[in-house]
Amino acid sequence: MSNTFGLTGKSDDKEYFRLSNAASDEMIHALVAAGSALAETEREKLMIVWLGDQHTYICGIGNVGFDIVEMPWTKDGFESEKAFILRCVEAAKNKLWWDRLGPELEGILKEELVIPWLESFGKLVEKMTVELVDEEERTEWLSWFGKLGKENIIREYPTCEKHKGILLSMYGCRFCVELNENGG
Ligand SMILES: [Zn+2]
Repeated sequence: MSNTFGLTGKSDDKEYFRLSNAASDEMIHALVAAGSALAETEREKLMIVWLGDQHTYICGIGNVGFDIVEMPWTKDGFESEKAFILRCVEAAKNKLWWDRLGPELEGILKEELVIPWLESFGKLVEKMTVELVDEEERTEWLSWFGKLGKENIIREYPTCEKHKGILLSMYGCRFCVELNENGG
């Protein structure tokens, strides 16, 4: 089963690409690694926290794909948020913090595969516009941290002890999730 990464997710939207479950997880691993290194502001960190939860073992098989409009954009911060995500894509292509996956996982990122996936992702982000921002998506998502007693994740932005500097998401560190599910 594959995952679709789209811009708006509307049925007439021709902007999308598809990846297998493993490929989807690996592309996002690279983005979360680079993004954890680059995120400075709260809004930047939130973007990476959001991406961190897009994992097969959290979302389910075939559910990792998403539409760019679903990301936690804000209207007034949109241009800098978009510039940040595009910086993350470029940094991920340069393998920034790929080594933070640790010896058990680092080998799963094959640059000849991951870099083209990141390029496809970057092209979708390029097409995102402020007109498409729906802040309700963001508000709805943020409300879950309170409901699940995980407010500290978006208040203190803790990072993983094992995978130094990797931002934790609602369900923890995605690299730890990957390791645990694989019996590591
Ligand atoms: Zn970890």
